[in-house]
Amino acid sequence: MQIYNQITRTKEEFVPLTPGKVKIYACGPTVYNYFHIGNARAFLFFDVLRRYFEWRGYDVEYVQNITDIDDRIIGQSIDEGIPFSEVAAKYSCAFLEDSAALGIKAPTHQPKATEVMDEIIALIDALVQKGYAYEVEGDVCFDTAALPEYGSLSGKKTEDQLAGARVDENFQKRHPADFTLWKHSKPGEPVWPSPWGEGRPGWHTECVVMSRKYLGDTFDIHGGGIDLIFPHHENELAQARALTGKPLANYWIHNGFLNIDGEKMSKSLKNFFTARDILREHSAEAVRFFFLSKHYRSPIDFNREIIEESERAVNNFYSALKSIGFQNVSAIPDDTYFPQKEAFIQAMDDDLNSAKAIAVLFDLARNVKNEQLPRPQREQAALLLVQLGGVLGFFQNLACLEEATLPDLSRQLIELLVRYRQEARNNKNWALSDAIRDDLAALGIELNDTPGGCNWKHKE
Ligand SMILES: [Zn+2]
Repeated sequence: MQIYNQITRTKEEFVPLTPGKVKIYACGPTVYNYFHIGNARAFLFFDVLRRYFEWRGYDVEYVQNITDIDDRIIGQSIDEGIPFSEVAAKYSCAFLEDSAALGIKAPTHQPKATEVMDEIIALIDALVQKGYAYEVEGDVCFDTAALPEYGSLSGKKTEDQLAGARVDENFQKRHPADFTLWKHSKPGEPVWPSPWGEGRPGWHTECVVMSRKYLGDTFDIHGGGIDLIFPHHENELAQARALTGKPLANYWIHNGFLNIDGEKMSKSLKNFFTARDILREHSAEAVRFFFLSKHYRSPIDFNREIIEESERAVNNFYSALKSIGFQNVSAIPDDTYFPQKEAFIQAMDDDLNSAKAIAVLFDLARNVKNEQLPRPQREQAALLLVQLGGVLGFFQNLACLEEATLPDLSRQLIELLVRYRQEARNNKNWALSDAIRDDLAALGIELNDTPGGCNWKHKE
């Protein structure tokens, strides 16, 4: 499997640290509001990455954090007039609800920053002891000049580029790229005691602590949206390298931006949509289809037409299944459609090319609907469609199909007669076989004998 690695800026063969196991950390939400549709792209992409590894037989350990202490949470608590912990609790809950509504599988571990405060303080202390961090008036800052490799993830190497880092710090940094590990609190802000006085941790430190806690010094994949490469992931990597001399992760994967009608999404442009807004009007699988129909690293443009087209595409999959009265059985498809299965794997093995993988699903849906094909073949296509679609997180609503088809007793009775007629034909009982055919024809059911078996359809 080839995967694009931000560290080397090339597609590389994916080799896990432990054969058969994959350890993934993806940055989760900062819970100060409902998450927007751009965040949903990252959450859905890592859900698919995880599902694909699982389907390929890997034992996946997937950690996604919740950042529940941050400047923006404090800002929102002032806006809403409720304590910061209530803001965090309210939007953590909303995040879990919306993730589930999007059909995202719960991660193996989902730590919150405030639950690991002791580990955060221990890590900062270790960096100070090792000479990679310094204290200025209650703030602790990472000394980027002490780490020659600093800038390797983002490729930002020059003083000028690194100076693009946050400039909102109110203390004396030794270098413009130095970043805050611990902030002393202003009056009224939430505080935790520390060797440097009361304060709270910086975001970059929270993530490095939560990932290491569950996945160890070095794990396989670290990821998030492309906007996290610098400074967030660069600064996580810097702390890990300073601490252990090892890389935090072997592969760094980032999904591309999302635009709305060709423009950057922003509250001031009034083109800001939360996932919750979108799910009021569109199905979760249409949202999933919309994202997966483009390569995850490409920028994607969100607009009404495309999401409606995605809705139609997903309905097309379901209507293909309905066309043969598909029932959600746990049968494994045989090798009838081996080339399609191979094409799907090839697409996904090529840096998760979900757009190509979806083309395979379309191909299968066409086969399911094709009345010229023998029925057993259409059934095999349907089984594979459901299996491969499931790898991408589709077909989470098969129950709705069953409701539509289970009371369909006539369909089952027709199938039964078709089977008895075949039995008659096998016994060369042509009179009975013809009688069944004619009687069904009188009821509006047309039979069509093919080398692969007998198909039936309603007469037009
Ligand atoms: Zn993070």
